[in-house]
Amino acid sequence: MISYCPVCGKPVYFAERKRSLGKDYHPLCLKCYHCKRQLSPGQHAEHDDKPYCTHCYLQRFGPRGTRPSSTTRSSFGASPSPKVPAEIRKGS
Ligand SMILES: [Zn+2]
Ligand SMILES: [Zn+2]
Repeated sequence: MISYCPVCGKPVYFAERKRSLGKDYHPLCLKCYHCKRQLSPGQHAEHDDKPYCTHCYLQRFGPRGTRPSSTTRSSFGASPSPKVPAEIRKGS
């Protein structure tokens, strides 16, 4: 029943484990891989088996990972400004 910490690879014993997102971490290992901030179980993101705080996760992976098309779509799909008929343009 011993699981292994995905951060340091060492066994995590029941008494000391911090279970989050389906993995068991050491209390000291459950911190943001990028900024080293302490994380609370279930209140963080993870990428490639490494825990990240949501802030770092969004900065590094968020805009591309979660919504790949929304930014490009806004510039393409937005309806262009109403076309002015050629006759009216000539008149003025
Ligand atoms: Zn660990
Ligand atoms: Zn962070």
